[in-house]
Amino acid sequence: MALIDQKDSPLFDLHSHSLHSDGILRPQAVVSRAKENGVTTLAITDHDSISGLAEARVAAAALDMQFINGIELSCLWDGVGVHVVGLNFDTGSDVLLAAIEGQGRARVERAVMIAERLARLGIADALAGAQEIAGIGAIGRPHFAQLLVNRGLVPNTSAAFKRYLGAGKPGDVKQLWPPVARAVEWINAAGGVAVLAHPEKYKMTRSKLRRLLTEFRAAGGQAMEVVSGRQAPDVTRSMAQLAAEFGLYASCGSDFHDPAQAWQDLGRFEPLPASCEPVWTCWA
Ligand code: AMP
Ligand code: MN
Ligand code: MN
Ligand code: MN
Repeated sequence: MALIDQKDSPLFDLHSHSLHSDGILRPQAVVSRAKENGVTTLAITDHDSISGLAEARVAAAALDMQFINGIELSCLWDGVGVHVVGLNFDTGSDVLLAAIEGQGRARVERAVMIAERLARLGIADALAGAQEIAGIGAIGRPHFAQLLVNRGLVPNTSAAFKRYLGAGKPGDVKQLWPPVARAVEWINAAGGVAVLAHPEKYKMTRSKLRRLLTEFRAAGGQAMEVVSGRQAPDVTRSMAQLAAEFGLYASCGSDFHDPAQAWQDLGRFEPLPASCEPVWTCWA
């Protein structure tokens, strides 16, 4: 009896970033790293951007991998910054393209506000510095975090979030983001599947998360991430239960940004529990 070749078994990674947002690799490098790690179906889900998808699609085809269009939209829900992933949408959708343009303008406007707030704390000229780090990528807080590290103001990006940019800190500007329901509508208008990203990362109480899932579902959201990077088995169980309770398909992904961050490397996470209805049945 032949052994099953692990490289041939399907492995879906439906959440990852390139340098078109706050990742550090080119889309083609994300694709080739995913291939090396055994991923057979990949979605790149840059923050509020689809500008890396064309390059990734070509690279994936050359490696005989399935590629799924993706995006991670920034939203605001009940005072919490929430992320909605869109999968398998039409990149030519007028509604989605207009929405992405708006999100891009909001990102720039937000970056100006973050820089103003940092200036009030005595950190000057942060906008130009963060823009330089962002390069062609959609500018975000990780670029400001890197700038603060480069200037020696904090030892690492996690400290930058803790002190300056994370929830409740001066650089946490989220009032420009749309409501979750609107992001779901944009994705659905483009024929995609809306996925609530990493629900456990919002640190909500279970009752608040249930309220979010209720609204998300009512707006047309179809799936939630049950597995996001390496996570504790009890988190996976609890997310799988919520997906079943709300009749949502289950998604999984690494949330890969940087090869140096080993805890969120491409394809490196536990499989979805067998009880889950995988999101890829929506397009398979
Ligand atoms: P933004 O899209 O500008 O709101 O930035 C959000 C991104 O910052 C997330 O997608 C993560 O990549 C990163 N991030 C959020 N919180 C932290 C943290 N505590 N430490 C390091 N990176 C973080
Ligand atoms: Mn990110
Ligand atoms: Mn996210
Ligand atoms: Mn992400």
